Amino acid sequence: MSEQLSAYDKLSRLAQNYWWSWQPEIGHIFRSIDPQLWRKTDHNPVKLLKHYPPEKLEPRLRELVLHSSINRYYRKCQEYLASDETWGDTHATLLGHQPVAYFSAEFGLHESLPIYSGGLGVLAGDHLKSASDLGVPLVAVGLFYDEGYFTQSADEEGWQQEHYTRLDVDKLPIEPALDPSGQPITISVKTRTGEIFAKVWLINVGRIRLFLLDTDVEQNAAEDRNLTSRLYSGGSRTRIRQEIMLGIGGLRALTALGIQPSVIHMNEGHSAFAPLEMIRLRMADDGMSFADAMRDTARQGVFTTHTPVEAGHDRFEADLVEEHVGPLADEIGLDTNGLLGLGRLDPQSNDEPFCMTVLAFKLSRRANAVSNLHGVVSRRMWQSLWPWRAEEEIPIGHITNGVHVGSWLSPQMRSIYDRVLPADWYDRSADPEVWSDFDKVTAAELWETHQSLKGRLISFCRDRLKQQRERSGTSPELLEAAADALDPRALTIGFARRFAPYKRADLVMRDLERFKQIVTNSDRPVQLIYAGKAHPRDEMGKKVMQNIIKLSRDPDLIGRIVLIENYDINVTRHMIQGVDVWLNNPRRPLEASGTSGQKVVLNGGLNFSVLDGWWAEGYDGKNGFAIGRGRSHSNNDIQDQRDAESLVDVLTGEIVPLFYERNQDDLPVDWIHMMKRAVRTLGWRFGADRMVMDYVRKSYVPAAGGLSSEMPPVL
Ligand SMILES: *Cc1c(COP(=O)(O)O)cnc(C)c1O
Repeated sequence: MSEQLSAYDKLSRLAQNYWWSWQPEIGHIFRSIDPQLWRKTDHNPVKLLKHYPPEKLEPRLRELVLHSSINRYYRKCQEYLASDETWGDTHATLLGHQPVAYFSAEFGLHESLPIYSGGLGVLAGDHLKSASDLGVPLVAVGLFYDEGYFTQSADEEGWQQEHYTRLDVDKLPIEPALDPSGQPITISVKTRTGEIFAKVWLINVGRIRLFLLDTDVEQNAAEDRNLTSRLYSGGSRTRIRQEIMLGIGGLRALTALGIQPSVIHMNEGHSAFAPLEMIRLRMADDGMSFADAMRDTARQGVFTTHTPVEAGHDRFEADLVEEHVGPLADEIGLDTNGLLGLGRLDPQSNDEPFCMTVLAFKLSRRANAVSNLHGVVSRRMWQSLWPWRAEEEIPIGHITNGVHVGSWLSPQMRSIYDRVLPADWYDRSADPEVWSDFDKVTAAELWETHQSLKGRLISFCRDRLKQQRERSGTSPELLEAAADALDPRALTIGFARRFAPYKRADLVMRDLERFKQIVTNSDRPVQLIYAGKAHPRDEMGKKVMQNIIKLSRDPDLIGRIVLIENYDINVTRHMIQGVDVWLNNPRRPLEASGTSGQKVVLNGGLNFSVLDGWWAEGYDGKNGFAIGRGRSHSNNDIQDQRDAESLVDVLTGEIVPLFYERNQDDLPVDWIHMMKRAVRTLGWRFGADRMVMDYVRKSYVPAAGGLSSEMPPVL
């Protein structure tokens, strides 16, 4: 059949499934058609092809001799989608035809679809991609934010500016989801003050279907048409309205699609209303009592809690909950106190707000933190939910986060892997044995590859700096300096993440004089590349960012400290593939896991991090660097001071000397040794394949089987 399709048809079909985004060769095909347009469209092939109708595309493809590789990758895609010999086909059979339903408020799949704000979303995206590669039966549910999360720039003063642009569904790989009779779907959720409607979109992520609810429909009151426009904006009323759509509306969408999930996985508490709808279904369709429906629903519930930061847990006032969930509570026979009690640590306490995390714990029998240390912290944090249990017996386990190898590994490093690792390394990337062969790569080759990736990062930064400085209207000198910012030979440290205060982006410059000495050392210079967004209402975060921008304009530091605006998946990709060192210095233990450092590992960069999150279990003394000794202090100022000193001591005492120590071939042999050790000891362990396999074995299969041995009920 495929022979009859034109190359244009094949490329269009490839563009309609995000599978292409983790096939570097397909990205290469799209890029070579029109490199400039490729960049301008945020690497969006659907948009690109709008500019290349068949009569314009065909000659271009002939010129570039691309037909045979298009045919090959089209065939590969068909085979991938049809395969029934996956890991999931042997390990997830219990899930049968009833998939896991994975709910998340954000999904970070690709830079061209800005419906994520940071780590939580990117993790969800990686979860889907690995579930696809592994063949795990899973469908995903989220919201379609047609204005996304904001685009960031900085003004002349270095102050963050937020811009929103409307996404055009015609230029995205997105289509209306259809019910079994082929009709588009509209679902609704009743509140005390009116009904909210949503249509449902479908996005294909390899074998995984992602359904996104969108309230921009005619039936809605004007205020609700914009309800799902933006991610994490608006006050608690908007928030709870989004969350009833995600949870209750999301499950209704699955029902309308004819999908009966075996497991409900709540990725963070935002979707914790979903099980309430499941209880309603069980009572209405199967005639169950509330108690039975509640028990069975909790058995199939899996919950991942993502942060010890208080502000990360949604809490709502009683009247907001009653207004929005009251009608559903009526249907399942819960009175107001019964409903509110589900979101309270102490159900009797009338002044405790309703917490989505508490609701999620109560409605799922399997709860996970996102790293070993975060498990310990979460058991302590939520102990009062199980007052009769000792802390270590609190039923919250952990599955450490991981990253999707195919999405974060650079093509250059991938070709090394292809050569030195076993042929099927990608399909067995969670197997430690596969990675032991990485030692076979020669020091010279690894270093040369790393240098070329670093070169790409530096030229990316120079381009971006030029654009940024043109936009913000800085001085001609600064604009000129962009062209030779950053030195390809200097030790290059990357720091990119949300500018949340606990992440302490400016910790390294706490002692500014010492910092300047380190950076400007003429024999052994150090340079830093920053990126990150502050939440629109986070003034502190914006101040930190402004400080860094001001320093980047300091005459002593120009070209040695740079901040790349509009941190997104594209910026991440460049940074994690090209840095020598990845710096992470959160206030322990607030970084539940962190994942950006895991992306760095795959590409040969070294982690330099507080022993928090995943690094507390990944660091072995020889595969990177640690800040501090894994202690926390209740006084923030003391902890910050201590960590800042340790950071600078390790940087000057260990990292700089190791990096600049060269042999007669100008190779930093001991450094390269450490790079190899990092890949070998960390690559298999912190991949999303391992994470999804853990979820299947420890959470999904038991939850789908209704086995209740592991987690005792809360209620
Ligand atoms: C990976 C990633 C993150 C997560 O970073 P942390 O290490 O968890 O802070 C955030 N944002 C983007 C765009 C990412 O790609």
